[in-house]
Amino acid sequence: MTSTLTGKRAVVVGAGMAGLPAARALADYFEDVVVLERDPLPLDAAHRAGTPQARHTHALLSGGQHALGDLFPGFEEDLAAAGAVPIKVGLDVRLERPGYDPFPKRDLGLITYAMFRPLIEFAVRRRVAQHANITIRACCRARDLVASPDGAAVSAIRFENSDGREETLAADLVVEASGRGNLSFGFLESIGRSRSEETIIGVDITYATGVFAVPDDAPTDWKGVMTSDSPARGGVGGIMLPLEGNRWIVTLVGRHGEKPPDDRDGFLAYARQLRTPTIYNASKETEHLGKIARFGFPASARRHFDRLEEFPRGLLPFGDSICRFNPVYGQGMSVAAQEACLLRKLLQERAGESDTLAGLASAFFAEAATLIETPWALAAVPDLAHPKTEGERPEDLEQRLAFSEALNHLAAEDPAVHKLFVEVLHLLKPRSVLRDPDLVERVNAVAARP
Ligand SMILES: Cc1cc2nc3c(=O)[nH]c(=O)nc-3n(C[C@H](O)[C@H](O)[C@H](O)COP(=O)(O)OP(=O)(O)OC[C@H]3O[C@@H](n4cnc5c(N)ncnc54)[C@H](O)[C@@H]3O)c2cc1C
Repeated sequence: MTSTLTGKRAVVVGAGMAGLPAARALADYFEDVVVLERDPLPLDAAHRAGTPQARHTHALLSGGQHALGDLFPGFEEDLAAAGAVPIKVGLDVRLERPGYDPFPKRDLGLITYAMFRPLIEFAVRRRVAQHANITIRACCRARDLVASPDGAAVSAIRFENSDGREETLAADLVVEASGRGNLSFGFLESIGRSRSEETIIGVDITYATGVFAVPDDAPTDWKGVMTSDSPARGGVGGIMLPLEGNRWIVTLVGRHGEKPPDDRDGFLAYARQLRTPTIYNASKETEHLGKIARFGFPASARRHFDRLEEFPRGLLPFGDSICRFNPVYGQGMSVAAQEACLLRKLLQERAGESDTLAGLASAFFAEAATLIETPWALAAVPDLAHPKTEGERPEDLEQRLAFSEALNHLAAEDPAVHKLFVEVLHLLKPRSVLRDPDLVERVNAVAARP
């Protein structure tokens, strides 16, 4: 705990995978942190209405897992104790890509955990609840933000409380982790400020997800499978990962109007026409648990708050409210956890200053933009390869795609390059490391092969 408190009260809107880590980051710098969540919150790792995406595969990348471990020491042990399945990165998930069925398997020295999204969230919620100065108020729906008399800052938040009555809570800082950013945009509009610019990539993705009991004769040479096609033909087609409780989660991905069916027979028929039969063969005879869930994801959206000249004091959009990533790459929760570490770092750096909150949002947006750059680019380049994807294509898209493909080949041949590439994909290193001149020369040599 620091001796210099930044403010009396911080309010976080949303108890999801961005709001909860943010609350932890704030707890050392505010007397009182209140998390407002519109849903009733289950007492165990159960689904809830406010996060419908949680019924679908949610991979936690190493970068996100490390960030959560920084915020909540021993977090990985919590996951393991709750039944999450350890995965040796590079070894335990069979990657099927054109030309590599499977991609060479290697133990890259990283362990991640596979589990249902409600379990991750529950593990984080339990840790957050242990902080005496954090209060999570369930069934409280934030309505709008109240401006200070001069209109330059947020001074309070209005919400409907669990009794259905309107309540107003004074706040020195409101972190919006509602997944949408509507409160922040509404506030900017109410004080006559312009919205941030936005980059949209229309990926038009439909997920269908089923959960299966792992059979006794399940394959022993892999714990999960990811089957992809070339980026121009849609990229990832199917993902199968283990879950706690000896289950598999299978997500089938359709693009641009192609919707994997949500009945068992149709679902299996869709799995059967993936580029390889591995997922179909593993799931066709297994017991199917519960309904097949569907989710439509029209577009990735990145808000450039960092480009605004000024931003109201006491307001901070966070997580998906800043950037919604194409879920296929499994990045959103990890980036949100890394943003929470960034917020804590900034608060720590400013702890001795007379006005810690002045310019906090701008400093946060600038560094968050750097953090977001790698995952955004990793997703945007292959997404834009699909002819039906909507969005502005960089002039050198073809070169970038050729570089990625050659890098993929080199990673298959060279374990050190494989490790480096995976560290970037898992958000442990920025993608600038792939621009190392020696590496670029080697990748170009591979690209030049007949
Ligand atoms: C289909 C799908 C699959 C995904 N797969 C992955 C994956 O594999 N790996 C990964 O890292 N990420 C994945 N993501 C992204 C991930 O779900 C989000 O990035 C992550 O949950 C962080 O989002 P968030 O907390 O900002 O928003 P959300 O998770 O949407 O949480 C927002 C919270 O705010 C609450 N709320 C909203 N409005 C209000 C209000 N007015 N008042 C009070 N509370 C409010 C909601 O009830 C909810 O609890 C996936 C997303 C989708 C759509």
